[in-house]
Amino acid sequence: MSDNKMQALIEQAEQDLLHTYNRFQIVLDKGEGMYLYDVNGKKYLDFMAGIAVFALGYGNKAYNDALKAQIDKILHTSNYFYNVPAIDAAARMKKVSGMDRIFFTNSGAEAIEGALKSAMKHAFLKDGRRSHQIIAMENSFHGRTYGALSVTGNPHYREAFGQMPCDVQFARLNDLESVRALVNDETCAVIVEPVQGEGGLKPATEEFLRGLRELCTEKGILLIFDEIQCGMGRTGTMFTWQRYGIRPDIMTCAKALGCGVPVGAFLMTEEIGQSSLVAGDHGTTYGGNPFACAAINAVLDQYEALDLVKHVSETGPYLTQTLDSIREDFDCITERRGIGFMQGLVFDRPVGPIIADAMDHGLILINAGSNIIRFVPALITEKQHIDEMAQILRGAIERNL
Ligand SMILES: *Cc1c(COP(=O)(O)O)cnc(C)c1O
Repeated sequence: MSDNKMQALIEQAEQDLLHTYNRFQIVLDKGEGMYLYDVNGKKYLDFMAGIAVFALGYGNKAYNDALKAQIDKILHTSNYFYNVPAIDAAARMKKVSGMDRIFFTNSGAEAIEGALKSAMKHAFLKDGRRSHQIIAMENSFHGRTYGALSVTGNPHYREAFGQMPCDVQFARLNDLESVRALVNDETCAVIVEPVQGEGGLKPATEEFLRGLRELCTEKGILLIFDEIQCGMGRTGTMFTWQRYGIRPDIMTCAKALGCGVPVGAFLMTEEIGQSSLVAGDHGTTYGGNPFACAAINAVLDQYEALDLVKHVSETGPYLTQTLDSIREDFDCITERRGIGFMQGLVFDRPVGPIIADAMDHGLILINAGSNIIRFVPALITEKQHIDEMAQILRGAIERNL
C-alpha cells in the first residue's frame, strides 16, 4: 500500500469515528512477536503493547489456536448457564491471585464499577446507610465510566460531566496522613493503584501500602487495589501487592488478563464475597462468556509455559539499568520511575515530539501525561529488544534537544 492510500484510510476514519482520540498517523496491519507492521509494511518495535495489554507479544500460536478452537465450540452462553472455560478461569485466577471470589467483566472500567458496588453494598449491609464515601488518590486513573471516573484523580477528566455518582475524597499517594485525615464514619473504601499507570508510573511505597492496610483494617474500611495495569506479572510478581504480601479486600484486573480479548475481573476475599453483592445486584451479558474465559485460560497457559513472571523479574532490572543510563546521559530527563516492565522517564519538556520521532524511526512508545514516556512492553521482551529500543530512543532524544 502506498503512503497516499494510508493517508486516505486515515482521512476516512476521521470522517466516521467520533473524535475522542488524537491518534498516531499510522494504520496498523499485523503483529509478530515484539514487532508491529503498518499497512505499508513498515516495521515497528513495540514498547507499548496495546497499552500494557499484549503481554504475550503478537502471534502467539498456542493462544491464537485456543481462541479459534473456542469459537468453533461455543462463543457465548449468557450467565444463566455455567460454562467450562469460566469455571476453569475462575479456579486458576483464584490460585494465581490469592483472592477467593471472582466476577468477570468486559473491561477495566467495569471491573472498577463492580469493585465500587461491592464496597458500597458491604458498607450498606453493615450500617444500613444509603451513602458512603470513598477515598481515592490524586493522579489516579481508574477508567472512563461514571463510577470509575468518580475515583479518577484527574479533575480535567470529570469537569464536563456533571455530578459524579460516588462521593469521593482525594488523598496523596504515599502520604498516609493525607488518607487518615479524610477517614470518617461514612468512609467505606480506599482505592489505590499499587503502581500508578496513566498518572505517571509512580509506585506506591511498601510503607504506604502497609500503612493503608493497617488503617483500613483498624477502621473497618475496605482496601481496593486496582491492578488493571500493574498486575498480570508486569512488575515481576503476578500482582504487584504480592511482592509486599499486602493483600487487599478487593482487587481489579484487566488489560493483560485477556491479552487483547476484552476482559476484566474484580476479585475479593471470601469474607467480602459473603457480605456484598448477591443475585440481582450486579450482572453483565458478555462478562465471563466462554470465548472471553478461553482467552484468560490461554493467557495463563502461556504465562506458565513461558514462565513470564520470572522472566520479568529477571529482565526487568536490565530495563531499569538501561533507562537509568539514558537518564544520566540527558539533562532533559529528570527521573526514571516504575518497576519491572512498567516504567517511565520524566522529562522537563513535552515528550510528544520525541515519541513522534521514535515512531518515524520504527519504535512505538506512549506517554503518560505530557512529559513522561511510558515503557510497558510485552512480557516476552528480551535484552536485545531493550537495546534496540534504547538505541532508537537515544537518537530521538538527541534530535529533539
Ligand atoms: C486502563 C486502566 C483502567 C480502565 O480500563 P479500561 O479497560 O480502559 O476500561 C482502569 N485502571 C487502570 C489502572 C488502568 O490502567
